[in-house]
Amino acid sequence: MKIIAGNWKMNGSRENLVNMVAALQNIETENTVVLCVPYTMLGVTSDNIALGAQDVSTHDHGAYTGEVSAQMVADTGAKYTIVGHSERRQYHGETNDIVRQKAASALAAGLTPIICVGETMDEKQAGKTMEIIESGVRESIPNDVNGKIIVAYEPRWAIGAGLTPTDEEIAAAHKLIADTLSDIGLDGTPVLYGASVKGSNAAQIMSIPNVDGVLVGGASLKPDDFIPIITSVK
Ligand code: PEP
Repeated sequence: MKIIAGNWKMNGSRENLVNMVAALQNIETENTVVLCVPYTMLGVTSDNIALGAQDVSTHDHGAYTGEVSAQMVADTGAKYTIVGHSERRQYHGETNDIVRQKAASALAAGLTPIICVGETMDEKQAGKTMEIIESGVRESIPNDVNGKIIVAYEPRWAIGAGLTPTDEEIAAAHKLIADTLSDIGLDGTPVLYGASVKGSNAAQIMSIPNVDGVLVGGASLKPDDFIPIITSVK
C-alpha cells in the first residue's frame, strides 16, 4: 500500500475538485489518496480521498491577516497539510526553522504534516545534496512528534521541470532519509518522492526501496493523469 498525494498548488476550482472526487469514486485501490488543494476548496466531501492544505500558519490565531491556522484547516475536515514545499521556501523565504514550527502547529491540530525537503540546482551542483536533505529532515521535524508525520523528498530542481533524478539518486536520498528518521526515533515514517511524477514513471519510482508513495503536482490536476498514477501500484 502506497500514499499518493496530489498538490494542486494555486489551480482549479471547487467544481474541478467535485469532478475529481466523482472520478475517483469507483477506482479500486488500497492506496491512500490525498489531495492538497487551495484553502477555498477544503470542505468538499469524499468517502475515498482525504483532503489537505498546502501550508499552515505558525500561529494558532490572532492578528495575522491572510493567514490560516492548522486548527482552521482541521475544522474543515481536512486531515493533512503540506509544509515546507519548495515554492514556500523559494517565494516566502521559509526556512527549516519555520517549517518545523508549521509542522508542530499541524500536529497540535491533529493534522498529518507532509514535510518537504530537497535540494536546489545550485546545492546539487555544489555537491551538497545529501547535506541539505539530512539537515532538512533533522531541522524541519519537531522534537516531540506526537502524531503521524510524512516526509516528502522533492528535488527542487526537478519540480515542474519534467526532470527526474536517476533511480540511484532517488534510492540514495530515500535511504539517507530513512536512516536519519531512524536515528531520531521515527522509524517507519512514510517517505514520499515528488517531482515530475506521471503515469509513465510512477510504478518504477515507487518500486525503489524506501519510497512509500509519491507527491504529485501537475499530474494530479486531471483525473486522466492522476488515476493512472493511483492505479500504477497496489
Ligand atoms: C510539487 O510541486 O510538489 C510537484 C511534485 O510538482 P510536479 O509533479 O509538477 O513536478
